[in-house]
Amino acid sequence: MRLVLDWDGTVTERDTLDLVLREFGDDEIYDRAEAELDAGRMTLNEVIAAEFATVTAPLDEVVAYVVEHACVRRGFAELARAKHPLVVSSGFHELIEPVLEREGALDEVELRANRVDARPDGWRVLFRELETCAECGEPCKRGDLPPGEVVYAGDGHSDYCAALAADRVFATGSLARYLDERGVNYEPLTDFRALV
Ligand SMILES: [Mg+2]
Ligand SMILES: [Zn+2]
Repeated sequence: MRLVLDWDGTVTERDTLDLVLREFGDDEIYDRAEAELDAGRMTLNEVIAAEFATVTAPLDEVVAYVVEHACVRRGFAELARAKHPLVVSSGFHELIEPVLEREGALDEVELRANRVDARPDGWRVLFRELETCAECGEPCKRGDLPPGEVVYAGDGHSDYCAALAADRVFATGSLARYLDERGVNYEPLTDFRALV
């Protein structure tokens, strides 16, 4: 069994991309892009690129803010040591690794995420190579799932397609609503002690 975890809103209690965009980005563009995503008029990657183009703060300032404000769900460090999960994220190595380091879990997980070029005229997202998924038509996390039995934990849009392919799902947030609408079984994600 391999444990696969989303990062934002799953390992972290609050989505750290949301945290960063509210503090350093443009609220109006952020809200509009999220509405376009929900309506299916923009892809997830288009939305992430548009949102982070409005962030111009230096990377070290944003990293310090995230490390100060991001809380991880209870039991994460123990779970990381016990299960060495694969963490798959639409966020950025540059913002995730400092929080993993703070938790003493940097060497305990395998991380697959995007990267960012924090340019002063607007951040550019460097999307990792992912095949376009035959199921959803976008480069999606389903392609990250290892062969064999998979337990998946997630909370949002980027997890919809991958969760449908997992053997067992822990869900919260909009992922839970998405699975409810499709009659797909899952267990509510509360904290990580249930997964150790
Ligand atoms: Mg998430
Ligand atoms: Zn997909």
